[in-house]
Amino acid sequence: MTRQFQPGLRASTSSLRSQSTAQLPYRPAPQAQSAGQTPRQDDPKPSPISPESYAQPFCDFMTTNPTIFHAVASFTTQLEEHGFTRLSERDVWSSTLKRGGKYYCTRNGSSLIAFTIGADYESGNGFGIVAGHVDALCAKLKPISKLDNKAGYVQLGVAPYAGALSSTWWDRDLGIGGRVLVRDPVTGVVESKLVKLDWPIARIPTLAVHFGTPSQGPFNKETQMVPIIGVDNSDLFGSGKVEADSKGIKQGTFASTQPPKLVKVIAKQLGVSDYSTIVNWELELFDTQAARLGGLEKEFIFAGRIDDKLCCYSAQEALLASPDDASTGIVKMVGMFDGEEIGSLLRQGARSNYMSSVMERITEAFAPSYGPNVLSQTVANSFLVSSDVCHAVNPNFLEVYLANHAPRLNVGVAVSADPNGHMTTDSVSTAILQRVADKCGSTLQIFQIRNDSRSGGTIGPMTSARIGMRAIDAGIPQLSMHSIRATTGNLDPGLGVQLFKGFFDHFEAVDKEFRDF
Ligand SMILES: [Zn+2]
Repeated sequence: MTRQFQPGLRASTSSLRSQSTAQLPYRPAPQAQSAGQTPRQDDPKPSPISPESYAQPFCDFMTTNPTIFHAVASFTTQLEEHGFTRLSERDVWSSTLKRGGKYYCTRNGSSLIAFTIGADYESGNGFGIVAGHVDALCAKLKPISKLDNKAGYVQLGVAPYAGALSSTWWDRDLGIGGRVLVRDPVTGVVESKLVKLDWPIARIPTLAVHFGTPSQGPFNKETQMVPIIGVDNSDLFGSGKVEADSKGIKQGTFASTQPPKLVKVIAKQLGVSDYSTIVNWELELFDTQAARLGGLEKEFIFAGRIDDKLCCYSAQEALLASPDDASTGIVKMVGMFDGEEIGSLLRQGARSNYMSSVMERITEAFAPSYGPNVLSQTVANSFLVSSDVCHAVNPNFLEVYLANHAPRLNVGVAVSADPNGHMTTDSVSTAILQRVADKCGSTLQIFQIRNDSRSGGTIGPMTSARIGMRAIDAGIPQLSMHSIRATTGNLDPGLGVQLFKGFFDHFEAVDKEFRDF
């Protein structure tokens, strides 16, 4: 990922058998072999994708990029390695954008849009878009995270993001990471630096069952799930340790509002010696357990934060794998949004103007005489695959699924339907994606919730409604959604790549069959 944090474990190490090897220097992934997957010598030539080869690279990506800032930075680094140019929303784009060009921009460092402009693209032509969300449940540090020591423990003030600090957060090895804003003492310029400590610094300890009723819950997330991050018994011995810990941290600075030992450890990793140059930070706790292949034949992936980094990972790999000479008249785009788990209504969320603004700027750059009608035409010709993970069938709870709407692992992406507008899927969008699946050899599954359960949501309805484009909700199945540790199939990241690449490759042709819609 960026700079000092993690060379060698990026998603770009993944492999695929691309049709355009000249353009994409992908190689079969050595990780897949070390993971116990025997490479198929007789790979069917018609398929450019080897789904199993994405399993270990996906695990590596998930282990290495636990926070949203790390994930976005890793994705952007991979894009740059594949010739994508960074765009700033502050700059003029019209003189930069070129047919055949590849670009990306980020917003807040926590959302990302990447796109390639086809060699034959004309203003008003459509966009083929795959978009998901890159945020995940976590525990974020409170603005003032320093707490008074209690009974010899140093603790950390945190707040749950979305549904974190659920029962699955007890007794886990929690790490910390995120971004730190540091002011250059010479220039005065503030820079965002990524940080991640490579050992578990925190734990939320259960109360042993021997204590009876108090150990049974329900538990108070403010008072009973406060992480412990260290031991300090100086109150017993009066050693002056507290004063020593705070040495060098000036009162009135941001650093003085955070646990002194944490400030020092973070500063050390960043190479910052003057703690007052730390202007602010956004740090979070996350489960440090590495993503692993599991099951007797390594058919599973066990990992944290699968929702929805999984679909984002597959979408980006698909964009990179789609050859330049496929669908040359359109713009191929991947979107990854922040804030989905908390309603998407932030400027980097799916309900913001982020994607519509990027689409507008691209449309404008190629329009001889630009006006809002050109954008409306662009939108009408565009299509969004809203790719959020969906519920794989759980064999121990079959009764909560509809038998014929229960996706399995290692089969393929599942179309999510809901008659009450929680999903965008309809007959037309399903027919379009089915046609894509037929062309690229993918199997589509279908998910719908029972009438006596309530459907979850995705970025699909808000994005397609705000922009006005056709859409479908289609995501990769996983077990244990919103648990701190979840499960998907070892083939599923690659099956996602296969379908999304198929969408990028074939959307332009397929759309011609659906001109009436
Ligand atoms: Zn999700």
